[in-house]
Amino acid sequence: MSYTYDPTSHCADEFINHQEILDTLAYADEHKNDLELIHRILKKCEPNLHPDKDHCSIITHREASVLLACDDPEVNKRIFDLARKIKLAYYGNRIVLFAPLYLSNYCINGCLYCPYHAINKTIPRVKLTQDQVRDEVIALQDMGHKRLAIEAGEDPIHNPIEYILDSIHTIYSVKHKNGAIRRVNVNIAATTVDEYRMLKEAEIGTYILFQETYHKENYLQLHPWGPKHDYNWHTEAMDRAFQGGIDDLGLGVLFGLDGYRYEFAGLLMHAEHLEAVNGVGPHTISVPRVKPADDIDPTAFDNSLTDEMFLKIIALIRLAVPYTGMIISTRENQRVREAALQLGISQISGGSRTSVGGYTEEIRPTDTEQFDVSDQRTLDEVIRWLMECDHIPSFCTACYRAGRTGDRFMSFCKSGQILNYCHPNALMTLSEFLTDYASPETQELGWKMIERELGNIPDEQRRALCAERIGLIRTGQGNDFRF
Ligand code: SAM
Repeated sequence: MSYTYDPTSHCADEFINHQEILDTLAYADEHKNDLELIHRILKKCEPNLHPDKDHCSIITHREASVLLACDDPEVNKRIFDLARKIKLAYYGNRIVLFAPLYLSNYCINGCLYCPYHAINKTIPRVKLTQDQVRDEVIALQDMGHKRLAIEAGEDPIHNPIEYILDSIHTIYSVKHKNGAIRRVNVNIAATTVDEYRMLKEAEIGTYILFQETYHKENYLQLHPWGPKHDYNWHTEAMDRAFQGGIDDLGLGVLFGLDGYRYEFAGLLMHAEHLEAVNGVGPHTISVPRVKPADDIDPTAFDNSLTDEMFLKIIALIRLAVPYTGMIISTRENQRVREAALQLGISQISGGSRTSVGGYTEEIRPTDTEQFDVSDQRTLDEVIRWLMECDHIPSFCTACYRAGRTGDRFMSFCKSGQILNYCHPNALMTLSEFLTDYASPETQELGWKMIERELGNIPDEQRRALCAERIGLIRTGQGNDFRF
């Protein structure tokens, strides 16, 4: 059966249309040396935050693919410069921190790249009890985390939706010393509208689901059996999540499974589809790359991409969807993360353990890890490093708690308003971290940064109120303030 490209369709074969991707790649090859066209496309990406004028133009998947195909060093330099400029214009120099929490590695799928696949008999199967969830959350709170992404394999017997909901409830209920988890994002397998509605009612933040690969034929081979084999069910999941009331949606591709040019075009088409049908694009885009893990050797997929190309993709995502947050995890090492942060990343994980029950162990356990962690620094070290690179670490969770989700968050971001709220919120949550969890070296750097950055809050009243609240946090007289 042949399908026609239609970004407004709810059928995966139409909004991620294979022929449209092939045509896009051919168009990109044809125009990759057309410098006049390329400069016209780049011009559209210039950030423009003046509320009376147009917002920063969004380039299409075709235009972005031309930029990806072009290997002119001058053009590449301009792409990287623009990405830095857009990141600063829309997101400032703040970086939001989170940690993954693995609940269960029971899984009935056969994903060839994931060590949790059902026929892996060497990996111990573990599922946290609610008491263990509580202990993990206390360990995470003691590190200073306020925002988690929960992860679980797909298994209706061991990890039914009730188990996920109980776990979310447990996570939100733990109040240990000054700690609290204020936002739980969820990364579980594609499910039904009813179950998405239950997640929404449980007050989750973002629903994250990686597409893994947009190439249907390859997808079917990489997921040879199990519920995840159903490409359309998986690819249409974000539409069902939106129908269930979740309007903060997180996309991602597992780079390395298929050719990066195909994945890049598919990812942007997915973002365009969400914008076309929901009036709001993805809240976040993640950029994981396949990593070695228990019985997984990434070279088996033969589609790995160089660090240089990986960074160019991050920069181009920043150009194409300037209002979408971008996430990089500890799959990447410090060097790659440092470069990526300049180019548009707005959220990173820190101090992560990718094994079930990993945070309560003294020594990093590796037997149930989902993938090898490249950046193994502690959260305190990550926070210090961010500040040394002049990024403000933020534990802010204000937007979603104030109902600024979906299109409300997007219009907030598009009009540049985000800077008036996020900056003071970042400083207040950083103060909490410094007061309650930081080492003396991190504290020293942090208080200096706060002093300096307070001066960048334009509104005088807000600046004074923010400084007053930071004083209260520092002297133990209050916390959890937000604008
Ligand atoms: N079971 C859910 C699903 O199927 O979407 C949750 C996913 S899993 C806990 C989180 C993500 O880890 C996967 O979507 C996949 O992209 C990524 N992942 C799996 N194996 C990986 C590997 N070897 N290296 C890097 N990332 C991997």
